[in-house]
Amino acid sequence: MNQSKQIKKLSQFCDKVGKNILLVQGIGGNVSYKHNDELLIKASGLSLKDALHKNIFVKVSLEKLNANFYQGGNLENKNNEFKNLKPSMETLMHGIIKHKFVIHLHAVEAISYLVRNSAEIDLSERINYTKNYLCIDYKMPGKELATEIFDKTIKEKKKINIFLLKNHGIIISGDSLNEISLDLFKLLQVLKTTPKKSIKIEKDFKKKITKDHNLINDLKLMQLVFDNKLFWCLNNKWNLFPDQTVFLGSRPNTYDSLSQFFENYKKQKDSQELVFIKNEGIYIKKSFDTNKLEQLQCFYEIIIRQKNVEKICTISKKEIQKLLNSKDEKYRKGLNQ
Ligand SMILES: [Zn+2]
Repeated sequence: MNQSKQIKKLSQFCDKVGKNILLVQGIGGNVSYKHNDELLIKASGLSLKDALHKNIFVKVSLEKLNANFYQGGNLENKNNEFKNLKPSMETLMHGIIKHKFVIHLHAVEAISYLVRNSAEIDLSERINYTKNYLCIDYKMPGKELATEIFDKTIKEKKKINIFLLKNHGIIISGDSLNEISLDLFKLLQVLKTTPKKSIKIEKDFKKKITKDHNLINDLKLMQLVFDNKLFWCLNNKWNLFPDQTVFLGSRPNTYDSLSQFFENYKKQKDSQELVFIKNEGIYIKKSFDTNKLEQLQCFYEIIIRQKNVEKICTISKKEIQKLLNSKDEKYRKGLNQ
């Protein structure tokens, strides 16, 4: 298959997975293709689901990329041929994996396992059809994650093509997109969990509670403030995956009642963008865009797939700080404001 045909197939693949909220949320996830000495990869801050109607890819020299990695350097500033697009912050990871195609998705069915303290055992019970997978401890997206993958697999010459990233997502690599699609399908099939049943909510929701806070446009999410267990998770098990922390903040604004919310609202200089009010509703400001909504939907989809919420592990405080201070993350956030 020639290169342009491959790119067309790749774009169709991105369109398909990008539109599935259980695989990709907002601007998350990335896909790459190696051809000769070039790596074609999704640009940072763009959405996979836009692949068919706009160019979402940038080209990076594999030789330069690998030289950079092996010399311990970061990707930034050394590849200034990108003009206005910047390659995904996960480019190093795509470069060191030798397969022709690499996909990285925030697959809910997998993350639901990868946030548990029993992730490895739970996963090994389900994934018994292949040995070519590996669980990777949480690492900061970018260079740290790439280094971990390198140390755990490439350096040790392990034959791995499915990487399961704790508190993050999955990477699948292969020499054809068909191979990858089959691996993805199989993995999702064995990891499928039946979500918790929704509780019945009988309430006339207030459409607006302040001049800038409107009711969130997804009634399913109201479970988060009406189901006590889920509300507990907001307060105790937030920060499940990097994009959640980056786009929704490291702490949720939760209130036990509307009056408690108003008391606090009066004192604030800048009102909060996303507020959760127990037995009342979830309210957002205009700036709360689709990307943020999809990160919240991802959080919700993960916690309704837990039998025992006590077993959930969140990202550590130290790692949260790193995410909030990361230049790459600030760039992604900036593009989406
Ligand atoms: Zn990711």
